[in-house]
Amino acid sequence: MRTIALLILWLHAAGLGATEVRDYAAEQVASRTWVIHGPLGDPSVDNQGFMNNPAFVITTAGVVVIDPGSSVQAGRMVLRQIRKVTDKPVIHVLNTHVHGDHWLGNHALHDVFPDAKFMAHPLMIEGAHNGQATRWLALIDQLTQGFTRGTRPVIPTVPVIEDQHFKVGGTTFRIFAPPKAHSGTDIMIHVVEEDVLFLGDNVMNARLGGMGDGTFHGNIAACDRALAVPAKMFVPGHGRTAGKEIVSVYRDYLSILFETARIEYDKGKQDYEMKDTIRAKLGRYVDWAGFDLNFGRHISVAVLEIEAM
Ligand SMILES: [Zn+2]
Repeated sequence: MRTIALLILWLHAAGLGATEVRDYAAEQVASRTWVIHGPLGDPSVDNQGFMNNPAFVITTAGVVVIDPGSSVQAGRMVLRQIRKVTDKPVIHVLNTHVHGDHWLGNHALHDVFPDAKFMAHPLMIEGAHNGQATRWLALIDQLTQGFTRGTRPVIPTVPVIEDQHFKVGGTTFRIFAPPKAHSGTDIMIHVVEEDVLFLGDNVMNARLGGMGDGTFHGNIAACDRALAVPAKMFVPGHGRTAGKEIVSVYRDYLSILFETARIEYDKGKQDYEMKDTIRAKLGRYVDWAGFDLNFGRHISVAVLEIEAM
């Protein structure tokens, strides 16, 4: 009996058997805008599947949440951080794209605020219904060894489109929907009075992720779009919030990789034969989280895109 009690105590101390995502502090990036910067990397047992940048904007009418994480457990953690800053209700939830690490946390917000409006790109809504929700649920469940089990996909119902503006409690949200960028379902959100631009995964900072659902052309164009927005703070899908320079740095990664691949392709090289040449040009990125895992895959995506041109 005593052994079992000690075992339970040890499991608890080690964080094993935990059913909630551990707290990450919300950081204020503008007068009414907060970002919870998740750890870098992919969903894992260690990070409890939580690794994106949930955020919230407190308006006079209520709270607007952006990308509440990868699971019901992550969404509850996000709600705990919101509650440390405001007791206003959540009235809108925006999802930047279809990848489940950004939106499966909708479940937690829907449980508490069933009347909130869940908003996303029309192709995000369509994709989630056509298999992406199921695929991402299974993927994150597998990568966390079941930690996120119990999560239900709450798929947005309100489509938002290119250049749409809407006001919530005196705050203006302007939507950009760059086509075929990171995922083909992407929106960026300019919170006008706050001088903040939410980039989704069209920009990551010190971290690389998959490009399999996107295109280099579209993603570079999305970066150019972001660079033209007169904001002060730029919130990437993963990595630290900072100034406009993070957009330029990520754009450079994409364009150096793509342009070098095109030159090598024209010389008759296969994707695996151009790796060393391209890697030598990307020295400043080799320490980024996920570089080794993703860099070779990115070259393959670039070559397919070059072949289709
Ligand atoms: Zn993504």
